[in-house]
Amino acid sequence: NEWLTTHNEWYEGVGHFTPSTNNGLEATNNVIKKENTLRERLPLSRFKVLAFEIVEKWSKSYERSLKQYSDKQTISLELWTSGYQWVKLNKSILSFSTECDNLVQYYIPAGDGTKITNVDIDVMKKMKWYSFDQYKNKAFNIWCVTLPTDKLKWLDGVCNCPAFFKKFMCKHVVGLSIRLNYCKPPPAAKNIPIGEKRRRGRPTKSKKALLVQ
Ligand SMILES: [Zn+2]
Repeated sequence: NEWLTTHNEWYEGVGHFTPSTNNGLEATNNVIKKENTLRERLPLSRFKVLAFEIVEKWSKSYERSLKQYSDKQTISLELWTSGYQWVKLNKSILSFSTECDNLVQYYIPAGDGTKITNVDIDVMKKMKWYSFDQYKNKAFNIWCVTLPTDKLKWLDGVCNCPAFFKKFMCKHVVGLSIRLNYCKPPPAAKNIPIGEKRRRGRPTKSKKALLVQ
């Protein structure tokens, strides 16, 4: 307990924008296996030559813009859909100005919760827990979304939910931006019944014709 009271920075939220997983690295590793070594083990000398070839090939494909760095978030239809559905839950939100003039913080109830009070926020901010259950309930029942006041920059918004730590984007940032009229979801995001998740793959083009009953 002594350790916990003096070290309250251990949780994931402390290192914002540090990778939470090594998925990015593993993706690169996969390409190396697929395109180059073909899953064979190479002798070290051959690997060294190959490594230089790979680096050269990749850097040239960026140069010829065959590959591109993306510096902007892209929102998948799946995320637009869950963001839109989050909006429909019409949860209560509390907003606070920050030390930074161009950022606003929004506190939103997580999970099934729909209401939020200043007391809940104070409890969460104190980060004082007496049991793991209490920690689980109190620390994960409020998410904090920070959005720029400049509506054109809503993609720079951040959230402290686990999904955001993994993908740097989540339904809360998307949903809140929709609610604030900072962005509009594509029409296809609205054609899934509330509570249902979009399946992977291309969305159906049109609804089936109604059968005459
Ligand atoms: Zn979130």
